[in-house]
Amino acid sequence: MSTTPHFDRIALIGFGLIGGSIARAAREQGLAKEIVTTARSAKTRARITELGIVDRVFETNAEAASGADLVILCIPVGACGAVAAEIAGHLKPGAIISDVGSVKASVVKDMAPHLTAGVHFVPAHPVAGTEHSGPDSGFAELFNGRWCILTPPPATDTAAVDRLSSFWQTLGAKVAVMSAEHHDLVLAITSHVPHLIAYTIVGTADDLSAVTRSEVLQYSAGGFRDFTRIAASDPTMWRDIFLANKAAVMEMLGRFNTDLSRLTRAIEDGDGAALFDLFTRTRAIRRGIVDIGQDSATPDFGRPHSELPPVPRPYVSESS
Ligand code: NAP
Repeated sequence: MSTTPHFDRIALIGFGLIGGSIARAAREQGLAKEIVTTARSAKTRARITELGIVDRVFETNAEAASGADLVILCIPVGACGAVAAEIAGHLKPGAIISDVGSVKASVVKDMAPHLTAGVHFVPAHPVAGTEHSGPDSGFAELFNGRWCILTPPPATDTAAVDRLSSFWQTLGAKVAVMSAEHHDLVLAITSHVPHLIAYTIVGTADDLSAVTRSEVLQYSAGGFRDFTRIAASDPTMWRDIFLANKAAVMEMLGRFNTDLSRLTRAIEDGDGAALFDLFTRTRAIRRGIVDIGQDSATPDFGRPHSELPPVPRPYVSESS
């Protein structure tokens, strides 16, 4: 098993929250002789250069990927196929090519046909993030104690999988390997449907005519505030996730709607026992998440400021 996660050149295609966090953590850990990245607009390239985290910022993805022994696409899932086609002819033989997309089966379907047998395609999804985006939003600690799920297609070179696994572990992540399809089903219920619920509830509150928008803002209780944080996530990224993971999201939404109808009936019928039973079960799940270290007992909104990730400066990309 190859254990050295050191690379001559790491190319990060995209320098937003995830690309910027990988760059910062890889730099801190000394994982590469050279880290390069790309940005589509001159304004973003200037900002990344100013941050001084990477060695070079290229205008084209092909230039960045050329000669790299690890290339990671850190861009919305809907853009991965076109970018794979663009860089395929520039990849170094033996290079590992990966991504960080929140959906895996569609990314594999879109990217794999462009990649030749001479490179190792190891798709990945670090299950870590915030609602912020852009080059200032990243931070080196983002992956600490979080899972990174690798979904190598069957017959992927095991040494390449081990090397990428070791890379993510050095960034602080715990690594799991599963099929792309299973990943998409698991993430549909743990991440994608919860985001859809947050987008819905915040939209519904905004549409209410009997309650004014200023009342919603002024009296927002903890639950609603948490939903607004999730619903502030990047619109391009989340549009792509729902389009790319349609089947699994539809399956989980079917189950969710059934359970919501059951709960609606319990409220209608004044069935307090049914409500109490469910809330007891869900409370145990929350305790389980805290127990295994996947969250702290204090949610973000109540946490002392010193424990929160840095708040990025407002950033507007010219190309988005
Ligand atoms: P982000 O902060 O918005 O950054 C996206 C980056 O992609 C930007 O550098 C953007 O460049 C670039 N980009 C967008 N469209 C592109 C295109 N067509 N071609 C080339 N570059 C393009 O997003 P992020 O949060 O880092 O998300 C990136 C990926 O990570 C997504 O696939 C997402 O599913 C995944 N992910 C996100 C999270 C999370 O919580 N945010 C967690 C895990 C995984 P410009 O500046 O030029 O627009």
